[in-house]
Amino acid sequence: MTRLTVNGRVLELVQGDITRFRADAIANAANSMLAGGGGVDGAIHDAGGPEIMEECRRIGGCPTGQAVVTGAGRLPARYVIHAVGPVWFGGAHGEAELLRSAYRRVLELASERGCRTLALPSISTGAYGYPVDQAAPIALGAVAEHLRGPTSLERVTFVLFTRETLESYVRALQALAGAGGGERR
Ligand code: ADP
Repeated sequence: MTRLTVNGRVLELVQGDITRFRADAIANAANSMLAGGGGVDGAIHDAGGPEIMEECRRIGGCPTGQAVVTGAGRLPARYVIHAVGPVWFGGAHGEAELLRSAYRRVLELASERGCRTLALPSISTGAYGYPVDQAAPIALGAVAEHLRGPTSLERVTFVLFTRETLESYVRALQALAGAGGGERR
């Protein structure tokens, strides 16, 4: 299963490169210096062009568990929402709450700007080492909770880079649907 309807809104999973995904906003898995890096962050700055980094420099930084908004340069989006997820230190250092908070903040910022569509990567599960089987239920749970409340968002798409990541999110979506997290259709 790759799609769940929550409160008439769509939560879906696809495999792909988020820099090629057309949406009102896309999220980035940034670091707290907003300094750019490898992984999805490097891909977003490479594809989006230098304007995004100029705005990041002006903003200066972002605490873990929070997010900031810039324009999207050449990307097929209006905004990039740079979220700072936690580094995995074994799970007893507030990682789950920080990861949930990072997603919540992205969703709030997208809704404040009136976005109808949002694309998300799997925050923290690359260089930051968060086990994807533990991150996926947190990520999907945060989105489902947001979609149950008042929001401008109509469709939230996780754009997952690898097949393994997609498979992990598919399992988590099945568990969420089984627990009554959405409307089955
Ligand atoms: P973090 O430092 O938060 O762990 P990474 O960028 O290292 O961020 O990894 C986060 C996830 O983003 C990983 O699952 C990685 O496979 C994925 N990723 C890397 N490049 C892209 C891309 N172009 N589009 C979508 N996801 C990507």
